[in-house]
Amino acid sequence: MNINNNLEVPIHKVQRFEDFFRLFPERPSFYKYQNRIIETITTKRNDLIIDYEDLLAFDCQIAYMLRNDPESLLEDAVKAFKNILKFLGGKLIDRDYFVRISTRDRESLLKVSLKDISSSYLSKLIVSEGKVIDKKAPEIRLEIGYFQCLFCLTEFEIFQHSLRVERPKFCINPRCKNKTASSFRPLSKKSYYYDYQFLTIQEGKKKIKTVLTHDLVDKVNVGDVIEVTGIFTTDFEYSKTAKRNNAFKGIIVVNNINILNNPS
Ligand SMILES: [Zn+2]
Repeated sequence: MNINNNLEVPIHKVQRFEDFFRLFPERPSFYKYQNRIIETITTKRNDLIIDYEDLLAFDCQIAYMLRNDPESLLEDAVKAFKNILKFLGGKLIDRDYFVRISTRDRESLLKVSLKDISSSYLSKLIVSEGKVIDKKAPEIRLEIGYFQCLFCLTEFEIFQHSLRVERPKFCINPRCKNKTASSFRPLSKKSYYYDYQFLTIQEGKKKIKTVLTHDLVDKVNVGDVIEVTGIFTTDFEYSKTAKRNNAFKGIIVVNNINILNNPS
């Protein structure tokens, strides 16, 4: 095997985000994101907001990857955020941490007008503007369900992927033969939940549904004009009816919100 033929250089994405957080200078010897992370430690926050243009200037390869595969790259960014937070002497106090993407540039690569959103943007990171025309009541969703087998008392978790709660089909204890769906007890106190809310925004005649989770829930009101950063996807996982039809609606899973004007 000729190793020299292998031109694929692995990209250490978490490390590249760490470098960005540690070394991006706002001005000489002033490290913008290191300072922001120190701030999150002192204010006990769990989120870090980054400007997309900063990342683009510092590491355009990672910035493009973030735009094209945000689901995976945001996970890497969160790992890097937690690593730097610990490196700077902070303690992880929350279960969930977030890296939220903002943009200052009116001409940003990420900007898409609602009327131009189409299937070519699926799974991409986008920034769109609109007026909030509908806000549903917040819900609480199960993220990880804990269950106990009533035969052998083994406890285990099931990660929840969809709207319908997934319950155990069999016991994970290899010596237990329990396969009776009704003989597993949900352990509510040990399970993980998160806040969840649908919001509809409109620009011109085009409306689009968005999904807010965690701390973003109830951050805006009907009538607000907002800019959302999010991942454009189909409503497959977010609608009770979508799974039966091969006809989906687009939906934005929101990563960050900026309120552009806030009429009182
Ligand atoms: Zn069992």
